Formats: sequence, structure tokens, C-alpha cells
Amino acid sequence: MPKTLKCPFCETWTQNFTTLKRHLILELKDYKPFECEVCSAGFCRKDALKQHCQVHRDRT
Ligand SMILES: [Zn+2]
Ligand SMILES: [Zn+2]
Repeated sequence: MPKTLKCPFCETWTQNFTTLKRHLILELKDYKPFECEVCSAGFCRKDALKQHCQVHRDRT
């Protein structure tokens, strides 16, 4: 059994949960894979982006 844990958001492998947790904290701070097509605002969660998109839709 491999003693490594893969980050669910990137290709990083960590040795244990402590390292993975630390990696995630650092990563999630700036990790915003979902970008608004209208104003380029970044979001780390898809539902957050979806919610943000309502702002643009309301203007129509
Ligand atoms: Zn990662
Ligand atoms: Zn936007």
C-alpha cells in the first residue's frame, strides 16, 4: 500500500494527512479554478461561481 495521499485539486502527492492538510490550506487560498467569463473573478467552488453569475444575469 502506498503511503501517499493525492491532493484532490492538483497532481500533488503528500506523505500523510498533516502534509496534505497543510498543502490544501496553502493551495485553496489562491486556488480558483472556476473563473467568471464576464468579469474574470475567480472562485474555488463551482457553486460559488454559479451564484456569482446571477449578478451579471440580473442586469439583463
Ligand atoms: Zn493540491
Ligand atoms: Zn463576474
